[in-house]
Amino acid sequence: MRIVFAASECVPFAKTGGLADVAGALPAKVVRLGHKVTVYLPLYSRVRSLLGEPSYALRSVTVPFRYYNRFAGIVDGGIRAGVQYYFVECPELFDRPELYGPAGGDYPDNAERFAFFCRAVLEATKILGVPDVFHVHDWQTGMIPVYLKTVYSADPVLSHAASVITIHNIAYQGAFPPVTTEDLLLPWEVFTMDRVEQFDCFNFLKGGSVFADMLTTVSRKYAEEIQTPEFGWGLEGVVSGRAARLRGILNGVDYDQWNPATDRLIAANYTPQDLTGKRACRRDLLTAFGLDQVADTTPVIGIVSRLASQKGFDLVSHLGEELIARDAAFAVLGTGEPAIEGFFRSWAERYPDRVSVRIRYDDALAHKIEAGADIFLMPSRYEPCGLNQIYSLKYGTVPVVHATGGLDDTIDEWNPSNRTGSGFKFAVYDPAALLGAIDRSLATFKNKIAWQILMRNGMEHNFSWETAAAEYVKVYEEAVELAGTPE
Ligand code: ADP
Repeated sequence: MRIVFAASECVPFAKTGGLADVAGALPAKVVRLGHKVTVYLPLYSRVRSLLGEPSYALRSVTVPFRYYNRFAGIVDGGIRAGVQYYFVECPELFDRPELYGPAGGDYPDNAERFAFFCRAVLEATKILGVPDVFHVHDWQTGMIPVYLKTVYSADPVLSHAASVITIHNIAYQGAFPPVTTEDLLLPWEVFTMDRVEQFDCFNFLKGGSVFADMLTTVSRKYAEEIQTPEFGWGLEGVVSGRAARLRGILNGVDYDQWNPATDRLIAANYTPQDLTGKRACRRDLLTAFGLDQVADTTPVIGIVSRLASQKGFDLVSHLGEELIARDAAFAVLGTGEPAIEGFFRSWAERYPDRVSVRIRYDDALAHKIEAGADIFLMPSRYEPCGLNQIYSLKYGTVPVVHATGGLDDTIDEWNPSNRTGSGFKFAVYDPAALLGAIDRSLATFKNKIAWQILMRNGMEHNFSWETAAAEYVKVYEEAVELAGTPE
């Protein structure tokens, strides 16, 4: 099969979140399964500086808008790990310091920027190769399925292509004024409640989800959750209406980067068979966080996270005093919303011998926490997939998580009677339930034999991209088969 990935971010070129990791890792794994994969990305200024002097695959591709045409150059990014990369160049739209907008905000012309990208990709493939399947990601590329089923529905080559959309986080939808319909030269028939209209806005993610032949999201549980009002952010009706075509495929992780047996960023390497190195990692972590005085018998609870309301720290702040009453120390790394940063800073100031916080993005320190902590805390309100809990398993750092999305799919509750399970979960999102899960972890920590079994249970897990890639290929096959058939 031939597959075109269209994404707004992709490691190692441009990243703001987990989508970039997926777009970076999955294509090469699909190639290994015998398929041909091409990845298209916008040529952001940061990508331009990485690529150097551009070499053009196509000099000019025309993308029409209501009052004017725009033109894209298609830059050949070469082949890496068997994957062909192309970059869509349009300096006036993409030569900007950020991908989506300044400091968490949006550029005012994002509808035009990403619709342009989508249509330029479609036009480019007419010359460089139309695939069997377009695999698009999140709202930014949601217009590809829409264009395929409208503007290009009679195109001799593109009309045969299927499309798959992956929803990485349904909270981000790309909602714009109704006039976007006309600006993008789409027929007004698409601006209805069962197509792209959502609360009188033109909604990119809704359009992509309605028109794609198959839908995926990044865990089985999240696939269920986004069909409910609590997690669907208004799109639950669309998603549940297409449930027969929706699959939850857990992201893989990069064990070349995240493996305590080989990790160069940690004080000592260790394996499930020989855990001695983890003691050195714990000492190293405590030193890095100025917590040297913490006793060997006191468990260290680690946090590495964007400090966003999604991540559940309102529960932690609610429990501040209660947690200090426990025998535990906290090492926290993250940046994000000022209110959450403020809570962690003041918590650390009040209890400096028990809580230490580093407000920054620091990959090496993230590795130190994964390796050196005993327990990893991830109480996210919602979590489409989540990576840190999966890293934690591999490092023998026992996760305490809210049973949502990928957290629920990847962590099994410890069962002391038959000694199965890999962590501790709480089902109801409230402080008491979180405290219950933390208390179970602290009680189990006291039993050294049980704890070692629990650590090893987690370390044996393997969430590889190979497994995920095989599942995606099945979805591509289904999309090809189903393209154009009524549901
Ligand atoms: P999300 O994509 O919602 O941020 P994930 O758990 O899927 O959450 O992925 C987060 C990734 O970002 C992980 O690789 C994690 O190690 C990294 N990360 C987040 N915050 C920091 C930080 N302050 N310093 C270093 N790495 C961080």
